[in-house]
Parts: sequence; structure tokens; C-alpha cells
Amino acid sequence: MTKKLLMGNEAMAHAALEAGVRVVAGYPGTPSSEIVETVAKLHAAGSAHDVHVEWSTNEKAALEVLFGASLAGARGLFTCKQMGLNVASDALMSLNYVSVRGGLVLVVADDPGPISSQTEQDTRRFAAFAKVPVLDPSTPEQAYAMVKAAFDLSERFHTPVIVRPTTRVDHASAFFDVADETFARPVPDDGFQRDVAKWVIFPRRAYEAHGEINERLPQIAAAFATEEPYAAFNERVGMGRAGEPASFGIMAGGISAAYAREALRMVAQRAAAAGVDMPPCRFMQVGTPYPFPEQAVASFASGLGDVLVIEELDHVLEDALTMWVGRTHASLTVHGKLTGEARDRGENDVDDIASRIERFLGLSGRLRLRRSIDDTLEEVQPAISAEELPARPPVLCPGCPHRGAFYAVKQALRGTPAVMCGDIGCYTLGNAKPLDAVDTCLCMGAGITMAQGLSIADPGKKAIAYVGDSTFFASGMTGLANAAYNGHDITVMVLDNATTAMTGSQPHPGTGVTLMGPRRDPLSIEAVLNANNFKRVYHADPLDKDASVVAVKAAVEFEGPSAVIFESPCIQLIKPGAPVLVNPEVCTGCKKCITEIGCPAIGFDTNAPGARSGDRGQAFVDPALCNGCGLCLQVCPFKAIVTLSASDTVAFPPVEVPEEEQLGQAAQSDVEQPEESAMPAEGGQDA
Ligand code: SF4
Ligand code: SF4
Repeated sequence: MTKKLLMGNEAMAHAALEAGVRVVAGYPGTPSSEIVETVAKLHAAGSAHDVHVEWSTNEKAALEVLFGASLAGARGLFTCKQMGLNVASDALMSLNYVSVRGGLVLVVADDPGPISSQTEQDTRRFAAFAKVPVLDPSTPEQAYAMVKAAFDLSERFHTPVIVRPTTRVDHASAFFDVADETFARPVPDDGFQRDVAKWVIFPRRAYEAHGEINERLPQIAAAFATEEPYAAFNERVGMGRAGEPASFGIMAGGISAAYAREALRMVAQRAAAAGVDMPPCRFMQVGTPYPFPEQAVASFASGLGDVLVIEELDHVLEDALTMWVGRTHASLTVHGKLTGEARDRGENDVDDIASRIERFLGLSGRLRLRRSIDDTLEEVQPAISAEELPARPPVLCPGCPHRGAFYAVKQALRGTPAVMCGDIGCYTLGNAKPLDAVDTCLCMGAGITMAQGLSIADPGKKAIAYVGDSTFFASGMTGLANAAYNGHDITVMVLDNATTAMTGSQPHPGTGVTLMGPRRDPLSIEAVLNANNFKRVYHADPLDKDASVVAVKAAVEFEGPSAVIFESPCIQLIKPGAPVLVNPEVCTGCKKCITEIGCPAIGFDTNAPGARSGDRGQAFVDPALCNGCGLCLQVCPFKAIVTLSASDTVAFPPVEVPEEEQLGQAAQSDVEQPEESAMPAEGGQDA
């Protein structure tokens, strides 16, 4: 064993390997991506033996691969973010009925905030909907323990099991003692055993299986309440003077349980510092929210009059506790999101929970003093709320080739009524001004199919769809077939940057790179388009403005399904070129380089004088940000932006300035500064 500092996702990967996992599959999505990557790294390093690890083309494919392996007796680990489970749900709902053989654990990472997602959906809800047990860790250490426990639970009850960390558990770090080498648990010698009555989900079998699920869920709930290691995930502690009965209770789940523990300590310290009696109260973490561990809850709630429920995303524990109170006629009042006493969305934090607990315990306004680090009493200052901090909307990176693609589409469509359907991934950011090139965004692959609906209902506008290369394979291909089969007049812009960029540059079928090492023949996007009867397919380099505009115009003019494949690698994959410079002798201060493409490397100095710019100021390029993509050179109408090779000096040749353009004589530019657009949904699932 070796002690390592690991983030929660890495720790869960180690836990699965130590549990003997044989197959690991998933689809990238923040905050879950590092789990598969850690397994791949350990496999490549030779310390994870006999494991197969892959990025599947999408979440549904991944879960079905794992279910096949489970039927042969192998343990499988599935990973995705919360919306990825929507994609995999078709398989999940049914495979739970079929039941599993080798342990099948799904780590589905939720994203309260949301920080990098288009929804705040709660996987605990999904687990209850699918009738699948779910474990909800409050710390990276608990996530590690839960993944191991989940494999045993899965095999004991023949059920898939979900472990649902949230972003802070995924990305927080702690020290772990982990195995130096791991070996996948051998698949039973008999492998897959044919049993049509069991493995083929006919309606009659589904009816029986539903009964089996209904029988096992109460057994699992009882195990959660009474058996280790599960019972430890539903920890109960008392606070306050020994022997004094508590009337108040705090119930919390997930990371909020860690916050609530800390908040309770803070409130107790503040009460002691202020000389105020803190009422005794009880605390319970519910680490196994579904099926609800009612026996453990009953012992926690016994004698309590009021319980405040703290959780992120939905009011899952609050609902379960309220139902339990109603069914058992317990004289208990439940407080939480539904009563307005807990945040109804977004992330929780310790300060906010502490102030809610103070209010709940009737201490508001009585704990204004607290003991500072030098042991003196100080006034409690309110924490800075997130609302007071400046907004920093996400933008395309400097030099991102997608910027050129969006710009070319907008240029080509000038005067053509059009609607531009975006998708999940970096190219959602084409929505930001000044590009302003994305009108819709729904979910993975939806740009292609939404464009088809718009082409039917609003034929006066040209329907454009954007899709990234990874999304193309994950969720785009059925939409292509639909467009060709039903004859929809759409133009698909494939923004191929040779990776799944937004989630951290993972490979996909178009790259030919696999996590197991051997390269495969990359799947051709053009061949897929041709196979789907797209009659016009053009290629363009998005950093070549004029050629890109020509390609888009040609594709848009065609009536019927057409496509442009923009090919240029993500800047994360290539060595940056030499930064460009603005020639102060030539720059007129027109700001076109800023208002047309919005590259973050280009700024504007309102105090910079210039022969042609007068007192309007001048553009400048931050060499630390510029990667020399060259797009701005093609946009500046005065050729004021230049590329210097490494051997050039930074001295510009003198420029003859016509008399009428000299200082102070040029008209003020009426172009506008780029505006901050509304924050676009940042896709975690794709590039
Ligand atoms: S060359 Fe121009 S557009 Fe490209 S990264 Fe540099 S400043 Fe931005
Ligand atoms: S587009 Fe050219 S002339 Fe205009 S501000 Fe930018 S660098 Fe200067």
C-alpha cells in the first residue's frame, strides 16, 4: 500500500480497481471525467492488471457494454455526469429488471450550481425513478468506501448500484492508502450462461422482475440502516449537554452533510463565545438516500420535534422524511427547501448553513461575537455572497479554431435569414458576443435534429446546425439519418477540433486513439455524412476566413442536407505559434478586430496615441494569450496586425500617414465594444 494525495474521482477509480473491477467504461463529462482517466493511467503504468477501460461513444453504449460484461460475471464500473445518465437511462431502466450478475456500479456525478452543465438534475431522484439503490458520499474518503461497498451490494442483491458524488466531492483531495497493484477479479469459468427466461426481458418476465425489485428494495433499506459498512454512511450524533433530551434535529446528505457538521461546530463555538446556551440537537447524515433507511431515521427522529433538512439540488431527503412522518404519524415538523428554510437550488456553503441553523435553533441575532485566532472576541462579519463577485462568463480560448468557423458562418449568412442551432460543448460559446452565432442549445446532438424541426416550421429561414466531432459520434448520427431520410433542408457545420475539448481533451472514434493503447483506424466524419446521403459535403480550415466563407455559402445554397467540416485542432493539442503584434503606426483604432471576433488576447488601450488613431486609442495584443492563429490578421481592414517570426525585431517600419488621417483629424469610431452575453450553458459531455 502507498499513501497518496488523491482527488475524489481518482480515489473512486482506485476503489473500483481494488474491488476487482474488470471493465470500466464511460463518456466524459465534468465533474466525472477523471475516474476513467485514472483507471487508464494506472493501466498504462502497468499497475492495474487485467482491466479493460474505454471511452465509449456515448453513455448508453458504455452502460450496455458493461451490462454485457456483468452477464458473464465481470465487475463493471460506469461513469458519467448527471445528464449522461439521461442518455444511458434506456439501458438502465431495463437492465435493472433483467438484474445483474457481476457487480455493476454507476458513478454519476451531479453538478450543483450548475458549474458546467445545462441542468441541476438530481441523480438521487433518478435512482428512485429507476428503483436502483444510490449512495451519496459527503467526502472523498466516503466516496472511496462507498464504491467498494457498492460492488458487494450489487452482487448480493443482483441490482445495479449508483454512487452519486457532487462536484466538490469529485474534485476535493485527501490522503488515501491505496494498493500498489490491482488485479481484476477473474470472470467465473462458466462465463455467460444461456438462460432465456432470465436474460431476455419479455413483458411477462418484466412483470415478475418488477415484483423482485419491489421485494429487494425494503431488504436493501434494512441493510442500509443496520449492516456495516452501509450503516456507517447514515451516521447519527448528538450535540449539546449529555443527558439533556434533544428537540431539534439536522438531517443532511452529500457534501451538505460535511458542511452541516462544520456549521454546527461553528454555531456551538459562537454560542460558547457569546455565552448563549445552544439547545441540544441531533445530527444525521443520510448517505443512502434511496431506498430510505427508515430504521435508522426512526432512531434519529425519536423524541425530536423539528428537523431541518440540508441538501443540494432537489428536496429528496425532505420528501422522504415527510412521507415517513406522515406514514408513521410521528409528531415531527420537517423544515427545508419546501418551507423556504434551505436554499432551493445551487450549491450550499458552510456560512449559509450556519446562519440557517442559527435561525432554526432560535439563536439568530444572539451570536454576534466569535473568538478570533488571537483569542479575542470579534464581531461576526457577513460572508461575501457570490452575487457580489463580478461575473466571468466563459469564452472561447484565444486562437480557438471554432472562432473562425462561427465568424465564417456569420459572414456567409449576411442577408440570409437563418436560425443557428448550437449543441453541447465548446461551440456553445459561439453564442457569446461579438460572434453571436448560436441561437439555441438543448442537449447532446440536438442541434442537428432541432434544425430539422425549424426547417419544417419556419422554411423561410435557413436551418444551420453546429456539432462537434465528439458529439457527432456520440449523439449526432441518428439526426443525420433522419435529415436524409425525411429530406430536411439543413446545413450541418461540423466543428472538428480532433478531441473532446471541453471535458479535458479525451479521444473519440474520430481520433483513432483508445485508452487501452492500440490505435484504431479513425472513423471518417465525411464517410459517415456520405453514408447518410448528405449530397454536399465541404471541407474548410476555419482559420482561413475567405475559404471558409466560400465553403459555407456553397453548402447553404444547396437545397437538402449539406455539411461543412471545419478541421483545425484544438489549441490544447498543438504548439502555439508566434504571437502577433499591432503596428501602432497603422492601427486606426477602429476596433474591428475586437467587435468582429472577440479574441480575449486582443485588448484596447484608450490612452495609446497613434498617427492614424488620433485620440481614439489603439488595439493591442497580449503576447501571453495570443497563440498566433492569424484570424485577426484577416479581419483588420488596415493590415495593422502583423506576424513576426522569432528572428524579427519588434521595430515597425515607418509609415507614411496621409495628412487628413493625422492626429486628431480622424472621425470617432462608432463601433461598439463587445458586450457580455448571458452565460451560455457549458457542456460537460463534449467538445
Ligand atoms: S492571432 Fe489574433 S485572433 Fe489569433 S490568438 Fe492571436 S490575437 Fe487572437
Ligand atoms: S482592426 Fe486593425 S486598425 Fe482596427 S483597431 Fe484592430 S488592429 Fe487597429
